[in-house]
Amino acid sequence: MSETTPEGAILQRDKETWAIVPRTPMGMLSPDILERIAAVARKWNIPVIKITSGQRIALVGLREQDVEAVWADLGRDIGRATELCVHYVQACPGTAVCRLGVQDSLGLGAELEAKYVGVDFPAKIKMGVSGCPLSCGESKLRDVGVTGVKQGFNVHFGGNAGSRPRVGDQVGENLSRQEALDLVDALLTHYRVHARKRERTARFVERVGIESILAAVR
Ligand code: SF4
Repeated sequence: MSETTPEGAILQRDKETWAIVPRTPMGMLSPDILERIAAVARKWNIPVIKITSGQRIALVGLREQDVEAVWADLGRDIGRATELCVHYVQACPGTAVCRLGVQDSLGLGAELEAKYVGVDFPAKIKMGVSGCPLSCGESKLRDVGVTGVKQGFNVHFGGNAGSRPRVGDQVGENLSRQEALDLVDALLTHYRVHARKRERTARFVERVGIESILAAVR
């Protein structure tokens, strides 16, 4: 194995093979995307294809020397999985198809994904957007969560589902779509400037207090 990590690849527990995760915003797929992934998996004998908790498709078990060519064949952007940046925005179907949806979670999720993909942060960021308070987009357990309600959107900040789970603080209620986007931006800008390196939003909120964050962004 070489000293350098192949671009967009994660070493697996066998310490020999690699996994890659193509970028699939909000888990939205199409026949073309699925056919391309299937063709690439067949061509390169990729042994494991796994849907992840972040609404992405992981291709697992690649040989190091194949990673670059597999990415070229996929023709898709890298879904970040280890870097200090936004890893993904997950979203439930919302008003696009769900009969219980009251807000457009897929549309708002797409807007957030496009806005923050490629932006560096002190630690990884995961976002969840839900189209109603049932929160199938896991909004309250993500660094940034937006939940549709009849009157608009609620915003949560500082959630985490890891080894020290934390329900995000509700920091906005009944906001318009633009107000929700502006609040998310203000929170992330503040976090970007004031958090320590590798400090997730949950730990940042615990350290400095949600009140101090809200005082700074309002
Ligand atoms: S959160 Fe609400 S809108 Fe979204 S999938 Fe669940 S029930 Fe449907």
